[in-house]
Amino acid sequence: MTLFEKSVAGRSAFSFGFEEDRAVAERYIPEFARAAVKSLPQVAELDLVRHFTNLATMNYSVDTGFYPLGSCTMKYNPKINERMAADPRLTARHPLDDAAGNQGILQMEFELKESLQEITGMDDFTLQPACGAHGELTGMLIIHAYMRDHDAKRTKVLIPDSAHGTNPASASMAGFQVVTVPSNERGGVDMDALDKLMDDTVAAIMLTNPNTVGLFEENITRIAELVHARGGLLYYDGANLNALMGLIRPGDLGFDVVHLNLHKTFATPHGGGGPGAAPVGVKKFLADYLPIPVVVCRGGQYALDENRPHTIGRMSGFYGNTAVLARAYVYIKMMGRDGLLATSRAAVINANYVKALLSPYFPPAYDRPVMHETVLSAKGYDKYGVTLLDIAKRLMDYGYHPPTIYFPHFPPYAEEVMMVEPTESESKETMDSFCDALIKISQEAKENPDLLLSAPHDTVVTRVNETYAARHLITSHRDKKGT
Ligand SMILES: *Cc1c(COP(=O)(O)O)cnc(C)c1O
Repeated sequence: MTLFEKSVAGRSAFSFGFEEDRAVAERYIPEFARAAVKSLPQVAELDLVRHFTNLATMNYSVDTGFYPLGSCTMKYNPKINERMAADPRLTARHPLDDAAGNQGILQMEFELKESLQEITGMDDFTLQPACGAHGELTGMLIIHAYMRDHDAKRTKVLIPDSAHGTNPASASMAGFQVVTVPSNERGGVDMDALDKLMDDTVAAIMLTNPNTVGLFEENITRIAELVHARGGLLYYDGANLNALMGLIRPGDLGFDVVHLNLHKTFATPHGGGGPGAAPVGVKKFLADYLPIPVVVCRGGQYALDENRPHTIGRMSGFYGNTAVLARAYVYIKMMGRDGLLATSRAAVINANYVKALLSPYFPPAYDRPVMHETVLSAKGYDKYGVTLLDIAKRLMDYGYHPPTIYFPHFPPYAEEVMMVEPTESESKETMDSFCDALIKISQEAKENPDLLLSAPHDTVVTRVNETYAARHLITSHRDKKGT
């Protein structure tokens, strides 16, 4: 039986209803995959509703509780963003309609670009990339293409050892050789090391500021001068922009390319791997390298500009992740200039507040004021036989999503550290209760470590074997018989 006969019988995993879909699928779905299509169980509607509703209640989200997942900026996503993104005037548009038919969407995208330009101090933007890592790849491809045209011996990219893991991955995917720059004892870039590494084979340095341990890069102006003076460019990983809006602009600090994570800073949904959006901004001299098409405004009409002679090509289909862009647009319009400034200020104050409350129990990795997130150490608890993992698991019994722990990009000096990012969304009461829970757990670690070792106790899924899935990979939906 072909896929389509199964489909007609209502038992296919795919439900192609139309002749043209059938033709497309026959062309693109390989024979072996078609033969292996599984039939779905036939259940009553009510059973299905209960199944998914029960699954949904097992979910943890910002809407159900505090989610201080450092690096991820799990801020509240206002419901008005959802309402606007679901407006049929947006959702009923067809991406293949021409620019004249889609003036509203193009205007929204153009105004979003203008706002992002103002917020970052960059000259032009693409809205195509669908997540931070995709934005990084886009930015790195732009720098790669620019260097190919201007200074082809520059084949390396410098990246601090504290960088997010996606940074070296993106630079290397774009064809660069990655060179690690060590951090100094204050958590910033080691300037002597940078001085030695910054030669005429270096295309760019990739930085995030504040950096991944929540610290403002104090030497940023000197770094920009040094790198530019020796012919390199500066790439800004803007995933941490939540600390800086309205205070400082990466464009003014000397960055040539930036990406922003709308799903972090600009309150669009985030989690489960997407959907996201990471617009990439560039200074004027790189604007011809942007992916096509670029949204422009000419004589009051919005259009898609395909004429970028040095373009790196397309990074995603159609207009980018439009519904996510629409949410960020609503958020920015709603907050305004003052609101965004207040947001960053509150995010920084909240992180420092949590740091102050928890420092006596979990010493900070660096004894400096932090920006939007704080890195705290649980090293002292190993003498009770308790690891940071046990502390994080126990926190779930208190009803909190654990902070980020054991992030692969933490440098070796930062063992057993957690990264807490409360964001501006949280009230003093919520942060107080969260800190109380961690302080109680620090007490439990001393008095009753078993309680931590077997945690979590009250969650749907209790303690899991952390390595089993990695050692026993199941990568297909097929059952054991291979059918
Ligand atoms: C989240 C993050 C990224 C990657 O963004 P994704 O959207 O998850 O791909 C890159 N850099 C930093 C500093 C981040 O926090």
